[in-house]
Parts: sequence; C-alpha cells; structure tokens
Amino acid sequence: MPYKFTFDISKAPHHFFAEIAVASYQRGMHKVFLKSLQDIIKKFKIQEATGLNLQDAVMLIQDLIDMQAANLMQRGKFLKTKKRALFLPHCSRKYMDSRCKAIFDPTLPSYICAHCSPDCVINKAAVAASEKGYDVYVLPGGSCIPKILSTKKYEGVVGVACGEEVKLSGELLNNMSVAGQAVPLLKNGCANTVFNVDTLIKTL
Ligand code: SF4
Ligand code: SF4
Repeated sequence: MPYKFTFDISKAPHHFFAEIAVASYQRGMHKVFLKSLQDIIKKFKIQEATGLNLQDAVMLIQDLIDMQAANLMQRGKFLKTKKRALFLPHCSRKYMDSRCKAIFDPTLPSYICAHCSPDCVINKAAVAASEKGYDVYVLPGGSCIPKILSTKKYEGVVGVACGEEVKLSGELLNNMSVAGQAVPLLKNGCANTVFNVDTLIKTL
C-alpha cells in the first residue's frame, strides 16, 4: 500500500542518513522521542525539501528509523542465512511502459529484467545480486511475496520498497521466520521511484 503523500529525499546529504542510522540504533534501545524526530526534520529541512506537512514528515522519518532499527536487529540472523532472495519494486524500472523489456512470469510471480538499459537501477541491482548468488524478483506488489516465500523457502530476503510496503512485508517475514533486510525508496510515487544502489550492494 503506498503512502498517501509523495516525497523525494534522494538529494538529502550524507549526514542525514548518518543521523537516521544513529537514531535507529537508539530506537532499538527505545530512546527516540517525537522531539528527536522533529529535530531531524528541522535540521535537514525535510519539510522544505519535500513539501510535506509535519505529521507526514514525522511518519516518513519514523518509518526510516524503524526500518534501519529492524535491519540492525536482524543483521546477525541474516548474515547466517544461505538461501537468499532480493525483492525489487517494479516502480523503480527506468521505463514503466513497453520500453521496459522485462517479461512478467505469473508463475513466479515476477518481472524478469531483460537488462535493456545499463543505467536502470533495477538492472544494476539485479546484476549485482545475481553475482552474489541471490534469486532476484521484480515485484508488481507485496501481495506476490507470500506465494514466493511459501514455494521457495528462502532463509534471508533483502527487500527494496517504500516504508509502508516494508512494514507489511516485514511482519510477513517475521511470521515465516525469514531474516529480512530492507533498503528504503528515497523517492516514492509508484513510478520513477529511486533507491540507492550502493546502499543495496552493501546490504546484500
Ligand atoms: S533494464 Fe530491466 S527493468 Fe530496467 S527497463 Fe530494461 S528490462 Fe526493464
Ligand atoms: S512506491 Fe513502489 S513500493 Fe511503494 S507502494 Fe508504490 S509501487 Fe509499491
């Protein structure tokens, strides 16, 4: 399910993400308060950069912090896994029309990237993950995940998605005892979305 608002924090400075990482660590220790969230939003001018109202900006930053905190808590378990998959969102494909040469295979269910565009982030992510032994899925939605997990029995999953989707998928992974690591979309909107490929490669 998408957020009811759109955002683009893909141009946020590096130390914004460092601050999110610190807050996430504190979150794991239950120390992040609303005041801290508002301080981060003010310090990095998130409202000015995104046009979000304070309530939506708080939700966005809260979800980023929760996502990183969950990553930290799951990291040890994830590193012990052998059979892994990468779930990528179809909304990050360079093209959302027939110029994308990916074929959708309903039996998986997933798009299969045809590597038509070297600068497409899905292509870059798929190649990097395949080289590391991951099975790669490009998903039209989180509703595909239960079928994949029940048929393939992965031990570890790295997922790229917006915060709302990560929350729903994270609950599912927990219920199925699959170790998860999430990489957030930095620009949402369900088309032409953006994530950081370097962050993903470090996570894999
Ligand atoms: S590189 Fe893959 S995902 Fe990207 S546009 Fe081409 S076929 Fe589609
Ligand atoms: S932004 Fe992408 S991952 Fe998030 S709900 Fe839309 S299509 Fe799904």
